[in-house]
Amino acid sequence: MAASQQGNSAALVVNIANIPDEGLAFQTEVTATPLQLPPTTEVELSTPVQVRGWLTKVTEQVYFQGTVRGTLAVACSRCLDIIHSDFTAEMRVVYLPPSTRLQIEGEEGVDAEEVLDLYMHDGTTLDLRPPVHDNVLLAFPVQPLCRPDCAGLCQVCGGNRNEVLCTCQETEGDPRFALLKQLHFLRRREDE
Ligand SMILES: [Zn+2]
Ligand SMILES: [Zn+2]
Repeated sequence: MAASQQGNSAALVVNIANIPDEGLAFQTEVTATPLQLPPTTEVELSTPVQVRGWLTKVTEQVYFQGTVRGTLAVACSRCLDIIHSDFTAEMRVVYLPPSTRLQIEGEEGVDAEEVLDLYMHDGTTLDLRPPVHDNVLLAFPVQPLCRPDCAGLCQVCGGNRNEVLCTCQETEGDPRFALLKQLHFLRRREDE
């Protein structure tokens, strides 16, 4: 585990002994690689992720309060244009010592990691990658739009209707025709 092989992933690993009683300001930047985000062609980080906040140690527990921010490059769900979407997520994380896990699991039958924003440190270091990873994933937009009224792509010629006004007749996929068909169907049923 040489430092050079880790890339900049070590930037999110904090030595607990380095956190003084009065707390520690934390600020760093990481690329997507150490965050091990799922490989996807639809969303990627267009800038490094900035993590900043404050670490506090109370006996064996460590708290991190801060923000993670970055920019995602994502395709518009209608016209497939690339949008750059900024995100900022608040992070409130509690790191429990390794002994707590056994206690919680043993006494209450609860897996501590299933509780949101609760993570474990190993007694020596804490790893901010899992909570940063989770917060970046939560920032992925489900149905991104380049603008609320994006006209999308023509289903016949594939042209971007935000840019080109084509005269294609969309008989198959046009929702207006589907609605007309439905109206005809309802009228026929009333006639019977
Ligand atoms: Zn669009
Ligand atoms: Zn067209």
